Formats: sequence, C-alpha cells, structure tokens
Amino acid sequence: MQIKDRVAIITGAAAGIGRATAVRFAALGARGIALADVDEAGLAETERLARGAAAGCGTIVVPTDVTQIAALEHLYNSTVGRFGDLDIVFNNAGIVSGPPPFPDTAPERIKRVIEIDLGSVAVSTWFAVQHMRARGGVIVNTASTGGLNPYLADAPYAAAKAGVIMFSRSCKDLQAMHGIRVNAVCPGVTETPILEKLGGGERPDWLGPIMANIELLRPEDIADAVVRIVEDDTLAGEYVVVSNQPRQR
Ligand code: NAD
Repeated sequence: MQIKDRVAIITGAAAGIGRATAVRFAALGARGIALADVDEAGLAETERLARGAAAGCGTIVVPTDVTQIAALEHLYNSTVGRFGDLDIVFNNAGIVSGPPPFPDTAPERIKRVIEIDLGSVAVSTWFAVQHMRARGGVIVNTASTGGLNPYLADAPYAAAKAGVIMFSRSCKDLQAMHGIRVNAVCPGVTETPILEKLGGGERPDWLGPIMANIELLRPEDIADAVVRIVEDDTLAGEYVVVSNQPRQR
C-alpha cells in the first residue's frame, strides 16, 4: 500500500518514533493523520511539524490514553468521521518500567507497562479491524529488540514486547480473511526521550557501555522501516528488526 492519499492513526505520536513517522507519512502525501497520545503539548508540536512537511496533509489531534477503551473508540470514530476512511494504524505508544529494576518494580507499574505496551495494542487492533474489514488495511505494532531476548532488569517490558511480536504473528490470517496486514516492527536502541525514562529522568549508567559499542538509531530510521512495512504488500504476520550497527572507531 502506498501512503499517498491514505488515512492513518498513529499512537504515541507526541514524541520520538511516533512523531518521526507522522512527519514521514505527511511528507509521503498521506491525506489524513490522526495523532494520538496523552502528551497534548507534544501532539501540538508533532502536528506543526507534519503540516510543515506537506501542506496538503490533514491532521487531527486526538488526546488519547490508549489503555482506555472509550478513548480508543473516540479516536477511531473521530478519524473516520473527519476523513471518511481508515487505511493504516501504527500502534506505537509505549513506556518502560524505569527504576528500580525488576524485581523491585512497583506492582502498579508492572501492570501499567503490560497494559500500555501489550493490552492497548490488542484492543486498538480490534477497533482497527472493525473499521478495516470491509476494504482492508495495514496495522503496524511497535515491539522491540527487547522482546527477542531475556531482559531481567525490565522483564515486564520484555514480556509485553514479546507479546506484541506473537500477537502480530497470530494476526497473519487476517490478510486472507479481510485484506488486513498486521506486522510488528522491533527497533533497537533509538535516540528518543524514552532513553531518559529508562533512568527515571536521565540516561541510566548501564546504558553507557552499551552505547559505547553501538550506533544509536534515529527515530527516522524506524519511520523508514514502518514505511517499508506499509508499502510491502507481501508482509503479513511478520516482525521486522531494525538493529543497531557496531560503532565505527
Ligand atoms: P517516547 O517516550 O519518545 O514516545 C512514546 C510515546 O508514547 C510518548 O509520547 C508517550 O506520551 C506516549 N504514551 C505513553 N503512554 C501512553 C498512553 N497510555 N496513551 C497514549 N500515549 C502514551 O519513546 P519512543 O522511543 O518514541 O517509543 C515509541 C515506541 O517504540 C514505544 O512502544 C517503545 O517501547 C518502542 N521502542 C523504543 C526503543 C528506543 O530505544 N527508543 C526501542 C525499542 C522499542
């Protein structure tokens, strides 16, 4: 599916990977983009950047907590109400547990991580399917390379992201049934505000040695991968890994 003239929903659109993808979709000629996040100031800035990337792109800002079913329903209804159609959904909102590391993470935080990083992806996909089953569409879910390997310090995050990969793989047959392609993208370590959230406000010490050996990805690198997934009509039920390259010395 080409992005030109299409209508998209992007969650986690107020910063980082979601913002970069919104700007890329606008530059590629998307007809409409619904920008969803809990961070209203960040959403306003993403809308400004997306409109700057392409004058013809319609945007709506829909403040949304993706863990709230009513908020997701409002997001989908607002998007279809404003633009008439829905072609692409990027379920990208996510959080990390932050300090202290597991197993000392507060129980409420464990629940919140799994609710946002996995639960909301499944529920949002349900809404997307209701809107797309008549004419097809593409759903991309943000997982992580952290969902591919054991990761004790944030075991809830690793489990949620592994869940996103398996959820997306499990949706493979939606392509044959309804023309809906569901895939996951697995970013490596990417230069976004989430790196500060890993340390509860500043980058944690343990990230230093890792970053000394790898090139950080840019949010635009992940946006490129999302575009490739949307455009490649052969991809369904797959997960696409965007790896860090070793640092050049
Ligand atoms: P980010 O913190 O810049 O963006 C995440 C966005 O999600 C924020 O704008 C935040 O407000 C929003 N969000 C959080 N809770 C929400 C909720 N309940 N409802 C709606 N929005 C909510 O970080 P990012 O790196 O751009 O993260 C985007 C996605 O990429 C996340 O799912 C993250 O887990 C994943 N990821 C990031 C990296 C990385 O290194 N940056 C690596 C792998 C995966």
